[in-house]
Amino acid sequence: MNIHEYQAKEILRAFGVPVPRGIAAFSVEDAVRAADKLGGVAWVVKAQIHAGGRGKGGGVKVVKSIENVGTEAERMLGMTLVTHQTGPHGRLVRRLYIEEGSAIERELYLSALVDRSSSRVAFIASTEGGMDIETVAKETPDKIQTFSVDPAAGYSRYLGHEIAAALDLRGDQAAQCGALIAALYEAFMAKDMSLLEINPLVVTKDGRVVCLDAKINFDDNALFRHKDVQELRDPDEEDPMEREAGKYDLSYVKLDGSIGCMVNGAGLAMATMDIIKLYGEEPANFLDVGGGASREKVTAAFKIILSDPNVKGILVNIFGGIMRCDIIADGIIAAAHEVSLSVPLVVRLEGTNVEKGKEILASSGLPIVSASDLADAAQKIVAAVRSGP
Ligand code: GDP
Ligand code: MN
Repeated sequence: MNIHEYQAKEILRAFGVPVPRGIAAFSVEDAVRAADKLGGVAWVVKAQIHAGGRGKGGGVKVVKSIENVGTEAERMLGMTLVTHQTGPHGRLVRRLYIEEGSAIERELYLSALVDRSSSRVAFIASTEGGMDIETVAKETPDKIQTFSVDPAAGYSRYLGHEIAAALDLRGDQAAQCGALIAALYEAFMAKDMSLLEINPLVVTKDGRVVCLDAKINFDDNALFRHKDVQELRDPDEEDPMEREAGKYDLSYVKLDGSIGCMVNGAGLAMATMDIIKLYGEEPANFLDVGGGASREKVTAAFKIILSDPNVKGILVNIFGGIMRCDIIADGIIAAAHEVSLSVPLVVRLEGTNVEKGKEILASSGLPIVSASDLADAAQKIVAAVRSGP
């Protein structure tokens, strides 16, 4: 789960991480009032969307008067912000963050993530802040350093020193960096984050080390123990189909292809997507209906898949292990009737009572194409999609 920058900074602030003062705003009046309350001589008006690269797209503006806070707020609220992370359609800006302006001396990069290869939390540090880290990794990989944290020891001063050195920070700034890393690590662990990215981490002209931007991803599997985090969810930023799928406990990720997939088990779902690609088409989604593919779940899954206008055919690939194939077949037929299926449907069933399941599909009177194995299923749906409606 993702949250907005202003929410991320609020969490970090509670752990003692230095972040600039700021106030969220939902209207131009809010924004002007916030700037007035913050005081000072410079403010930053920041569009709040769940995507980075806002600066280049016109979603981050440093202004020197309260009047200009209003002008920028007016411009940003309701605009469709396109960045390299939003895709070409961009995101509608509904919230702003008004922050006290910082005078920047240096921009650095710092992030923490769960490194699956070492099964540890790792910090990534670079002197090249404010830029896209992917670009830095590609063009100057030697400017990125990784430090994994020993889970038993946790934060140590040694780690703080090492990261400070990687960021070219010395003396008092190195000490500030150490304290900052300790606080970030504590927040990361306490809130079950999967990614915490500070880009840029800045050194201000008066020598303070401050998080100027903050992006947090939380581990969805641990959300149940963080009610406070769940409340930060912004439905406007979530894909409506993915949200709908969440209600039925379906794992759904929309993709760009033409073949809708309904599969049980994440591994089988990935294999199904691979084999569709192997035969020359692209999957329209990843969809794992889980172990117990009930009629309600299958119906919901069909509706979600069919609401995607790119879908030209559906491939159902279900292994009846916990669930029997005849029950799944019943579910598919009931669901197909309910949603008035408008595209070709290929079904591959395997497992307990598979013969009975196939019989039910064959005698349903519905134009369902039965397939014997994975390759057969993929070839049949690809052929059906290519021959058109
Ligand atoms: P992003 O583009 O979505 O990653 O948004 P950021 O919050 O990282 O802001 C983008 C850039 O705006 C930063 O890299 C800074 O160069 C600049 N910026 C943001 N806040 C300030 C500020 O308080 N003062 C100054 N001078 N520049 C800022
Ligand atoms: Mn940034």
